[in-house]
Amino acid sequence: ARYNRDDIFRMVKEQNVQFIRLQFTDIFGVLKNVAITVNQLEKALDGELMFDGSSIDGFVRIEESDMYLRPDIDSWVTFPWHSGEGAVGRFICDVHKSDGTPFEGDPRVILQKVLAEAAEMGYTMNVGPECEFFLFQTDEKGRPTLITHDNAGYFDLTPVDLGENARRDMVINLEDMNFEIEASHHEVAPGQHEIDFKYADALTAADNIQTFKFVVRTIAQRHGLHATFMAKPIFGINGSGMHVNQSLFKNGQNAFYDPQGELELSMDAYYYIGGLMQHARGMAAVTNPTVNSYKRLVPGYEAPVYVAWSGQNRSPLIRIPAKRGVSTRVEMRNPDPSCNPYLAIAVMLKAGLDGIKNKITPPPAVNQNIYEMNQKEKDDLAINSLPGSLEEAVKELKNDAVIMYALGNHAMDRFVEAKTLEWDEYRTKVSRWEIDQYLTKF
Ligand code: ADP
Ligand code: MG
Ligand code: MG
Ligand code: MG
Ligand code: MG
Repeated sequence: ARYNRDDIFRMVKEQNVQFIRLQFTDIFGVLKNVAITVNQLEKALDGELMFDGSSIDGFVRIEESDMYLRPDIDSWVTFPWHSGEGAVGRFICDVHKSDGTPFEGDPRVILQKVLAEAAEMGYTMNVGPECEFFLFQTDEKGRPTLITHDNAGYFDLTPVDLGENARRDMVINLEDMNFEIEASHHEVAPGQHEIDFKYADALTAADNIQTFKFVVRTIAQRHGLHATFMAKPIFGINGSGMHVNQSLFKNGQNAFYDPQGELELSMDAYYYIGGLMQHARGMAAVTNPTVNSYKRLVPGYEAPVYVAWSGQNRSPLIRIPAKRGVSTRVEMRNPDPSCNPYLAIAVMLKAGLDGIKNKITPPPAVNQNIYEMNQKEKDDLAINSLPGSLEEAVKELKNDAVIMYALGNHAMDRFVEAKTLEWDEYRTKVSRWEIDQYLTKF
């Protein structure tokens, strides 16, 4: 552990912390807060702070609604930006039931369950996410537009580097919150950015993703911009992905690295890839959870469409970056930043472990351009597609017992219920595209 109780009380005093946010995440990946004053710190650390679980989407019904927040003491950090008197600190919390046991519908609890399964097999998991996002201008009322800072430069007097300045500020604030930033750059699409931070153990990485999104949104707002992590805000240009670099370690060594293995990869690495591929369709509803997610997974925009892996090519679903030794890793390229990072990492790990347990050998690597193959060539290589829609993804999820087990009945039921509704609502709405196509034609 990084901190003990005394450390927290000391830091609270030293930094004049007045408010503390207790954070947790609902099953849809939305960060939730219960704000307390420092007077309640003792009680919070004892895990005695209650909230109404029925007020959180996808948690519980009224009858069973008393839930408790258990702060993860190591997640303590103060926000570097200031608003009003005193500093604001936060803890990331696990959700517990009134009987004191972990709540099986809490995404953070779900990830810890799969991590415990990995630990039993001798593995720890490391995760390095690459989170892309768009920055849009806001209008005079502060509402987000679809105008990016770099487009706006043509017409307005806005400085062209509005987004660049905001990004620099984000990096500085993240570093103040103990993030180790490895890279930060403008992405391919106008208004699109990526900030990469150093990999960490899976639970910390999922926490970091949630903190990252929160910081990026907050700082964007302070620059008069809106940051969005939706997968495909604009048709015709690249969407935002969240590549997930992942590796397993055993006895302090990277278990994916084997200097004697083919491509210097271990059998564990191959089976892990095999598991990811076997369950890629079944877990898509989790890694790509919105109607909009599937508008990113189309040919022509650097996002994967087919279930394939390669050690050379940058375009397939699973890529093996060239680095070996401690950096040996598998990069899963379909997840997008609208996913719940706890659940997405949980299902990917579960899929990989299933590959290792059942020695699932992946099909041969595909190093040619799949987009140029005809159906017969794809069939010969048994190349499957990712689901084409949220509807298809939910169907696949319901057919994948391994992934369902990882989520557990509670989260699974709520998730499927909500995603089915989401699809149905979308399906029955009349879109601009339909009007443009049909209104005058018929
Ligand atoms: P790309 O070449 O796909 O753009 P990046 O350099 O943007 O990749 O990001 C690579 C990510 O992989 C970083 O977050 C880095 O910390 C992470 N990473 C490095 N080694 C490992 C490892 N062993 N396990 C998991 N992630 C790792
Ligand atoms: Mg990158
Ligand atoms: Mg890179
Ligand atoms: Mg990128
Ligand atoms: Mg990448």
